[in-house]
Amino acid sequence: MNKRFLIELHSHTVQGSICGRGDATFHVKHYHELGYSGMVFTDHFLNHGCRVPSDISWEEKVEMFFSFYDEALEYAKSIGFHAYVGWEWGYDCIEVLTYGLDKQWLLEHPDINKIPVEQYCALAREGGAFLAQPHPYRENYPIIKLAPRHVHALEVLNANNNDFSNGLADHLADAYGLIKTCGSDNHNGIQHKYWALALKEEPTSYEKLLSLLREGNHEFVLKSDET
Ligand SMILES: [Zn+2]
Ligand SMILES: [Zn+2]
Repeated sequence: MNKRFLIELHSHTVQGSICGRGDATFHVKHYHELGYSGMVFTDHFLNHGCRVPSDISWEEKVEMFFSFYDEALEYAKSIGFHAYVGWEWGYDCIEVLTYGLDKQWLLEHPDINKIPVEQYCALAREGGAFLAQPHPYRENYPIIKLAPRHVHALEVLNANNNDFSNGLADHLADAYGLIKTCGSDNHNGIQHKYWALALKEEPTSYEKLLSLLREGNHEFVLKSDET
């Protein structure tokens, strides 16, 4: 079998997310041990469940958000693991997994934590981001909000979502011709179940990962302690 490169696209650290577990370095070590080639940190963005306080300046918020990953990124580099920083933007009952933007972009776009989802997506796309709506049919909000015309992809396999919701997301992706992604939505550090994105090429840079995602030529691998 050809070598596949496993990537985690949806994970929360205890440093960035109020609901996360395990610091960023722990996540790198853990996914490396599980046989992954890389991961993107997707902590809750400055608008929902983020550890960054709200009463500091935008610059301070952005600096603090990125500082959570300094040690982990250095450690990842030392072991040849491809770790990148993204975030899970979330406002008004809808989330957007955001990949490929950097600190500079955020500094140039203050207060994007409090704008409507369609405006956020337009700005992020203009900046070159790859956007995926996670768990589109998760029913823990009073209503379900969908933004298929504003994202590149839908997360159709979320390890912490049920089969019903994941199945509907898969149908929606087919109907709109969207790229499909997966993720563990790891809020536990160590989980019983993970959905890994399997790439045919090594994502040796964040740009490379994004271009592989845009090609949509990937597979999904379930890692579970039951199988
Ligand atoms: Zn969370
Ligand atoms: Zn999440």
